[in-house]
Amino acid sequence: MNFCDLAVSGVADLRPYQPGKPIEELQRQHGIRDVIKLASNENPLGPSKAALAAIALNSRELSRYPDGNGFSLKTALAEKFQLQTKQITLGNGSNDILEMIARCFVSPQDEVIVSEHAFAIYALVAQAIGATSVVTPALNYGHDLQAMLAAVTERTKLIFIANPNNPTGTLLSAAELHQFLQQLPAHVLVVLDEAYVEYNNESSKSFDWLVQFSNLIVTRTFSKAYGLAGLRVGFAVSDPAITDLLNRVRQPFNVNNLALAAAVASLNDEDYLIESRAVNVAGMQQYEQGFKQLGLKWIPSSGNFITVDVGRSAADVYEALLQRGVIVRPIAAYGLPKHLRISIGLEADNARCLKALAEVLES
Ligand SMILES: *Cc1c(COP(=O)(O)O)cnc(C)c1O
Repeated sequence: MNFCDLAVSGVADLRPYQPGKPIEELQRQHGIRDVIKLASNENPLGPSKAALAAIALNSRELSRYPDGNGFSLKTALAEKFQLQTKQITLGNGSNDILEMIARCFVSPQDEVIVSEHAFAIYALVAQAIGATSVVTPALNYGHDLQAMLAAVTERTKLIFIANPNNPTGTLLSAAELHQFLQQLPAHVLVVLDEAYVEYNNESSKSFDWLVQFSNLIVTRTFSKAYGLAGLRVGFAVSDPAITDLLNRVRQPFNVNNLALAAAVASLNDEDYLIESRAVNVAGMQQYEQGFKQLGLKWIPSSGNFITVDVGRSAADVYEALLQRGVIVRPIAAYGLPKHLRISIGLEADNARCLKALAEVLES
């Protein structure tokens, strides 16, 4: 029996998402003990102390189901960002929400517009349904909003925009985005994925736009600046009518006890966020200096990672870095076979990565 013939066609053709290599896997495969991972844009500080305390406290409740409505986290988010709780959907990571959105709104006959070099999950969730992904060419490694507008047809259901984008780190200005939303037909939904928004100086205006644009869905995550990637928690903010629809396909207990408690604690730990930003700014400068010395070009980044052109097959450089115990991210699957994406780490780890890179490029 070929079960591929039984699978729905979108799934049969699907290639799974390639995550960054886990530290334990490299240790297992190569017998290297001292490994650093700069491959999944995780917060190098580890979780906030407030989050750890909340986890310890709430672990006593693990025999109980979580609050399926996520009341305390939604209330904390509503307070912090001046939202109504009925605008908020919680997800098992924001990826969970991206999938819910696709399930709610996208049919096999629909088109979903994504940009070249954009976050891979967008095309994956569309393809799983059997919908058509329309890929618009990038502009300076980022989203070309004019090209995305021009690609809209009556079949277009959804447009995904990552701002900043992963893996290129490019940022669209509030003015550009606002103009784009004004020009877009109301039947087209826009998912504005702001997974890295906390690293930007210019604060996002996206939540304010929701009043004017009911076709806008903003997604954010606790996986990056809030340091909780392992717990899986993210959220969407949208028109309450969209929240209501997402809630119909949402698994009833999609966000667990510990994630809910830790997210509330992290959200209110302003010092941790400030320190996370400072570490990121310093590390970004460290890489830019290092790349300059190596004569390498990089894409200026608004995220917590930096994508560098190594001027040759990045797959080979990636492998050679693995041998030196350094895990970064090759991004050939994103149409960038000569680039590596490096997550900003702590100073010593950044230095080790740059030193290993210098050695590999010299040899
Ligand atoms: C890391 C990342 C996310 C976050 O995913 P989670 O499921 O919340 O961990 C979302 N979008 C982009 C573009 C990302 O890079």
